[in-house]
Amino acid sequence: MNKSTAIIGLGAAGLMASSILGPEAFSLDHQKEGGRKLLVTGGGRCNFTTTDTLEDLVTHYYDKRNFVSPSLYAFPPEKIISYFKELGVEAKREGTKVFPKSDKSSDIVNALLRKSGRIFFQERISSIRKEGDVFHIITDKKIHEAEHVIIATGGITYPQTGSDGSINPIIKSLGHTIIPQKGVLTEIMISSIPFSKAEGISLSLTLKKDKIMMKGDAVITARGISGPVAENFSHYVEAKDMIEIGFLDIEKDYFKKQSGKALLKNVLPLPERLINILLPTLKERRIAELSSKEMDEVIRTLRGIKVEAHLNGKRAMCTKGGVPVREVDRKSMESKIIPGLYFTGEVLDVDGECGGYNLTWAFASAYSAALDILKKKKLVLS
Ligand SMILES: Cc1cc2nc3c(=O)[nH]c(=O)nc-3n(C[C@H](O)[C@H](O)[C@H](O)COP(=O)(O)OP(=O)(O)OC[C@H]3O[C@@H](n4cnc5c(N)ncnc54)[C@H](O)[C@@H]3O)c2cc1C
Repeated sequence: MNKSTAIIGLGAAGLMASSILGPEAFSLDHQKEGGRKLLVTGGGRCNFTTTDTLEDLVTHYYDKRNFVSPSLYAFPPEKIISYFKELGVEAKREGTKVFPKSDKSSDIVNALLRKSGRIFFQERISSIRKEGDVFHIITDKKIHEAEHVIIATGGITYPQTGSDGSINPIIKSLGHTIIPQKGVLTEIMISSIPFSKAEGISLSLTLKKDKIMMKGDAVITARGISGPVAENFSHYVEAKDMIEIGFLDIEKDYFKKQSGKALLKNVLPLPERLINILLPTLKERRIAELSSKEMDEVIRTLRGIKVEAHLNGKRAMCTKGGVPVREVDRKSMESKIIPGLYFTGEVLDVDGECGGYNLTWAFASAYSAALDILKKKKLVLS
């Protein structure tokens, strides 16, 4: 029997697993090269991890903190940084983000590829079956056998990079479930406000949906809002959801402190282009002329205007949904349904915020799976 490990998908997680397992594994990808999504990360610079402490790190994965913790503790950012250093890739820090010193994502891909075992590109998998202790991976070119299989096929965003959800029927045929997938970490589109007239303005926003609230930096776009807080908040937004956007946290007292002769647009610490679209009828009014009702209207609009929201799927950087975490062991990434089958990275229903958290997860989950396989083979990490 072939004692090898088959890695399906050679993106961030697959490359990390294959670099750890080396000749113990072979990889299959339906694209003609690996790491295509990795190459476009961080605008081509690859924000591959973070400087966060572990306590902080685990809070950036929404409701999956419990599931991601063992892998992130086993392969934390400092280990990821030193792993790449050993492979010849020096890191540099920008705030809490970590990039290759060269600013080239290709350095990350090439470093991992150099340590990888055999690779089969452009093979289309039609099925994966387990007979006895052996997995049979049937492709359009041949039948591969393996003792273990790591599925690292990513999510469904930027499908041109290869992560297109084509593996889902195969995962289901193995007895697993797929939680419906959607693109997140993306622009929130809002049609009820003519945001295009304020395009390019950077500001701090408070976003709310029911009891969920996030505050942080955002950018107004032609169609709505983007930037870190909007992208992170997109995790919570379903099509046609009503969300609340807060521009300024003011009370009635604010007006009392202003000169009565001043125009409303001149006393608000917001760019005029934004005031023009938010308060078109009141902006030219003098503070002394505003009625109590009008002041309330200004406060309501600035503190939290309710709008219908949609997500821009085309710009989504991560996938929410996929293999449910309840079907996978959180320490080893091994399937609870089929022994010897592993899931790593974005194919799982785990998505992180922007800031290097998704690659950190892809690398850490791959490390857990690869280490578990080495342990089963009574081998140690070289
Ligand atoms: C524009 C953009 C910028 C980003 N920037 C960052 C960033 O700076 N920092 C960060 O942390 N995250 C970033 N991300 C997110 C990050 O890239 C992903 O979370 C990460 O690549 C997921 O890794 P993965 O290995 O699970 O999947 P992927 O990297 O998507 O790899 C999946 C691989 O599986 C292959 N595959 C898929 N289906 C099959 C199949 N049926 N058969 C064979 N092979 C298959 C694909 O060809 C691909 O090679 C960004 C994403 C995008 C789109």
